Amino acid sequence: MDLELYIQKVKAFNHELDWDQFHNPKDLLLALMSEVGELAECFRWLSEEEIARVIADPEKKKKIAEELADIAMYLMTISYKMDIDFPKAIEEKFEKNKKRFTLEKNKGVHTNPIEGYKPQA
Ligand SMILES: [Mg+2]
Repeated sequence: MDLELYIQKVKAFNHELDWDQFHNPKDLLLALMSEVGELAECFRWLSEEEIARVIADPEKKKKIAEELADIAMYLMTISYKMDIDFPKAIEEKFEKNKKRFTLEKNKGVHTNPIEGYKPQA
């Protein structure tokens, strides 16, 4: 998948539907958060075992994939509306994260704002 190609497709779709008039950064962020909420609803109140069954079911997994796609498309829209080169931003942040999270310090370890660094059980 070519990310830039999909950004252009989303941009053309939004333009065709005359939705640019609604797409300011604040409302796009609210729409993004709504889609994150829709994804969260797919997991709400489910145990780890139930989530594993959802993921193993192609039809249910498709709903999760659709919510992820909605989130990705809002991220793309926010990026192009703010004249941010999204693929470049991802590449640069990925490289920054690779330097920040080192094998020596972070392998097999997660962090929490309250607990700090904690080895995976
Ligand atoms: Mg959705």
